Amino acid sequence: MSADAAPILLWFRRDFRLTDHPALDAAARSGRPVIPVFLNDEVVRTYGAAPTWRLGLAAEAFAERLKGIGSRLTFREGRAAEALARLADETGARTVWWTRAYDPASLARDEAVKEALVARGVDCADHPGHLLFEPESVRTGQDGYYKVYTPYWRKVKDRDPGPALTAPTALQAPDGWPETDDPAIWGLGTAMNRGAAIVAPHCHVGEAAAQTRLAVFLRDRVEGYATARDIPAMHGTSGLSENLTYGEISIRSCWHSAQRAIAEGKRGAPTFLKELVWREFAYHLLYHTPRLITGNWRPEWDAFPWNEDAAGDDATAWKRGRTGMPFVDAAMREMFVTGTMHNRARMIVASYLTKHLMCHWKIGMHWFEECLIDWDPANNAMGWQWSAGSGPDATPFFRVFNPETQLDRFDADRTYIRRWIAEGRDDPDPCALAYFDAIPRRWGMAADDAYPDPIVTAAEGRARALDAYRGRDL
Ligand SMILES: Cc1cc2nc3c(=O)[nH]c(=O)nc-3n(C[C@H](O)[C@H](O)[C@H](O)COP(=O)(O)OP(=O)(O)OC[C@H]3O[C@@H](n4cnc5c(N)ncnc54)[C@H](O)[C@@H]3O)c2cc1C
Repeated sequence: MSADAAPILLWFRRDFRLTDHPALDAAARSGRPVIPVFLNDEVVRTYGAAPTWRLGLAAEAFAERLKGIGSRLTFREGRAAEALARLADETGARTVWWTRAYDPASLARDEAVKEALVARGVDCADHPGHLLFEPESVRTGQDGYYKVYTPYWRKVKDRDPGPALTAPTALQAPDGWPETDDPAIWGLGTAMNRGAAIVAPHCHVGEAAAQTRLAVFLRDRVEGYATARDIPAMHGTSGLSENLTYGEISIRSCWHSAQRAIAEGKRGAPTFLKELVWREFAYHLLYHTPRLITGNWRPEWDAFPWNEDAAGDDATAWKRGRTGMPFVDAAMREMFVTGTMHNRARMIVASYLTKHLMCHWKIGMHWFEECLIDWDPANNAMGWQWSAGSGPDATPFFRVFNPETQLDRFDADRTYIRRWIAEGRDDPDPCALAYFDAIPRRWGMAADDAYPDPIVTAAEGRARALDAYRGRDL
């Protein structure tokens, strides 16, 4: 087979969409047969329970979407380099394309794939699509990378990320399709146990659902977004993190929608655009400093006396929503039932874990990695280091969120607390009760238990944290 007629293997990882997908667009335009592939590979196997389960849903929904343009998704399992080499041999493909990733684990895998395939005469190329601006392309005046959000924002806010690409209407099929695994036998959802049935109704899976979500947000919520986005009991935000993390919608489509909303004079649209750029900034940081995931971004924090016991009493009470601090517990339960957590609540639970309980931020980061359907390697790591004080552009350690006064400010009528905490109520909310169906039975928790006293009060926790902080050069 001549290289011009040989099929292209198009490897999908976290980019499950047809619209504004540069690699797919290029493959469709090439006129060559295209074989879309999804791999249960060495990186996927490191994902936590909820992200793995949700990834499986994303891949299956995308397989259906591909059928609509005369194509199909081939599912394979194994180390990426070997699985792709085998597929190239079986299909005669001399080209493998994918959308570029930026987290250290994916980068290492992709390098290994390139090395192995190029050695066999198979061309490999990565394409943009996960971000608005490639991390190397945004430079400071001193030709460095940005460590602080505001100057980063100023640098990119007037840039043009280019027009969003339209979805191809057809993909040329190969002469024969390769054999495919049945993804059901991989058991991607098994670690979720009974939690999957509770979280499933809260998911918006697939490209069409993501586009509807954006359209509804722009129609109903963007106007009031700047203030409503801070109230956990309200549905004031877009909810798009679940879709952006699996690439079910492109960040560029969101950017252009935000720009249109700004032009239409929608009041909350400028704030929405800025939030989209926080995601961009997180990837910029992660790409330039992979230690954002692995250790304290500021090494001076290495000597801080963190409690590193992820199975200790404090961390366990936090994970189970039994700290006795209603705002914290409500948020942790929201995450278990819906697979997501409101941004304000994320800041509060992170501050409480790292400051009041002085537990290492990595304990929280890893727990979120297990539980969030919108888990994103860059946003999660940046969010935790920001909250703990150990990151670049972080909230200072001495800024300790008080979970009681935060409650008065952001949940004054206690709607959020009532929604998520059942103990001590005659007529608990169905959401609060759903928590007990989602958690492992071995936790031994029941809705009619007494609600616990605080494991540490707001005042004690704050004083202890500030004591530990004082005298250190942080
Ligand atoms: C400790 C901690 C952990 C976090 N973990 C994650 C995570 O795993 N995955 C994740 O997507 N976000 C994470 N965030 C950021 C933020 O909480 C979520 O992006 C947001 O709650 C998603 O809801 P939404 O899509 O309705 O956001 P909207 O308010 O509608 O914002 C639109 C989009 O902008 C981006 N965005 C908004 N806020 C932030 C932010 N603070 N940082 C980076 N990007 C942002 C997201 O892509 C979001 O989908 C974390 C924040 C903290 C403090």
